[in-house]
Amino acid sequence: MTTQGHCLCGETGWVYQGTPKWACYCHCDDCRRNCAAPVVAWLGVPIEHFRWVGQAPKMFESSKGVLRYFCETCGSPMGFEADHYPGGMHLYAASLDDPEDFKPTFHVNYESKLPWLQINDDLPKYEGTLLKAPDDLRDYSR
Ligand SMILES: [Zn+2]
Ligand SMILES: [Zn+2]
Repeated sequence: MTTQGHCLCGETGWVYQGTPKWACYCHCDDCRRNCAAPVVAWLGVPIEHFRWVGQAPKMFESSKGVLRYFCETCGSPMGFEADHYPGGMHLYAASLDDPEDFKPTFHVNYESKLPWLQINDDLPKYEGTLLKAPDDLRDYSR
C-alpha cells in the first residue's frame, strides 16, 4: 500500500509504502509551537519505506539531534527525524492526502496538554515522550 502526503502549496510531498508503525497525538510545547496548533497528530514510518517527492524540504534542528522538515515555499511542517528514534521518519497526520483515514491510538506528553483543549477519548495517555510508550511502538526493525 502506498500513502502520500503534501504541504499547503503542494510543492513538497512524501510517500511511504506499507503501514505506519504507530499513530498518536503529541501535546508537547515544541510540537505545538512548530505547528502553531494546540495538539499535533503524528504517524511514524520506517525510513527505508519513505521518500520525499517534489521540492526537497528545508530542515531546522529544533534541539540537538532533532530535525524538523518544512516546505521552503509555504512553510508547512513536513517531517521529524531524531537520533533517539533511529530508523524512523515521523510525519504530520494532517499532511496526509487523505487525513480522514488516520486513526490515532494513544497520546504522548499528555501532562503538557493545554487546559482549554477538551479530549474525551479512551486512548492511552502517556506522560513524557514516545520513549515512554511501549517498546514495540518505536522499534522500526520489527
Ligand atoms: Zn509548500
Ligand atoms: Zn511533541
